Amino acid sequence: MKSVTTVCGKISGDEMGYTLSHEHLIVSPEIPDKKYDDYRLLDVDLMCAEVEKFKEKSGKTIVEMTPLNYGRDPLKYKEIAQREDINIICCTGFHKEEFLPKSAFELSESDLINMLLEEINNGIDSTGICPSVIKCGTSYNNITDTEKKLIKVVAKVHTLTGIPVSTHCDKGTMMLEQGEFLVKNGVKSENILLGHTDIQKDVNIQLEALRRGFNILTDHVGRELDDTDEERIRRMEIMIREGFVNQLFLSGDMGKKDYITTYGGKPGLDYILGIFKDKFVKEIGKEYFDKITKDNPKRFFSF
Ligand SMILES: [Zn+2]
Repeated sequence: MKSVTTVCGKISGDEMGYTLSHEHLIVSPEIPDKKYDDYRLLDVDLMCAEVEKFKEKSGKTIVEMTPLNYGRDPLKYKEIAQREDINIICCTGFHKEEFLPKSAFELSESDLINMLLEEINNGIDSTGICPSVIKCGTSYNNITDTEKKLIKVVAKVHTLTGIPVSTHCDKGTMMLEQGEFLVKNGVKSENILLGHTDIQKDVNIQLEALRRGFNILTDHVGRELDDTDEERIRRMEIMIREGFVNQLFLSGDMGKKDYITTYGGKPGLDYILGIFKDKFVKEIGKEYFDKITKDNPKRFFSF
């Protein structure tokens, strides 16, 4: 039977409730460069306080998309989940080339496949905490040879386990190419969630991805000025009108101090279920919002 694996164990899809499909709670790019300091979120207390606000807006589940070599910390996710009584799903897999661990370049495809299978079946670094989504990424307007190798690895791990694939499309580029390369390597489009697609402002590319059966994530919500969210809602309305509501997902990808209110940033993890939801419901309707933030994640993350 299908279920969803959280950092605290298995739950049924029905228990997921309102879900943010791509966030970062504890994260720290493992590159010793000051320019990434703002991307380091390491404080459990501050993040618990932030999650509290998400919960006040009826939030129930957060998908933590920090991959290998990016400061992933399953034990801290579990601590936050237990303290705040929410569901956290964590991930395995890889970011784009800039953030890859040495092992991604040095190990063979089959060794990498075994490494990821070990995490999925037995837990990450002997914590017993298992990931429930697998990530792959591509660079800006380019898929490097190593990224291609890793996409093949991710595709193989998916076909062996059924774990859903959620991706990083750098600044919204290469979404069709990346998706098609996964399909070519055996992943059905319905099991692929293309990430950061809303940075690509041409709705026709998003529509093309949807026509090919991919799920797409609007995950830069609240990042810029309010009128940009109006634009996001307008584009989502077009995609819904074209009949694709079942393939849409929402999140904020707020992996930076600038975006988390308890670190002094905005809009914060409560924004999508608060201000953004109000706007969306007014323009498009609550049943569609619930489909995108409840029904679709429940279907996609259950395997
Ligand atoms: Zn992210």
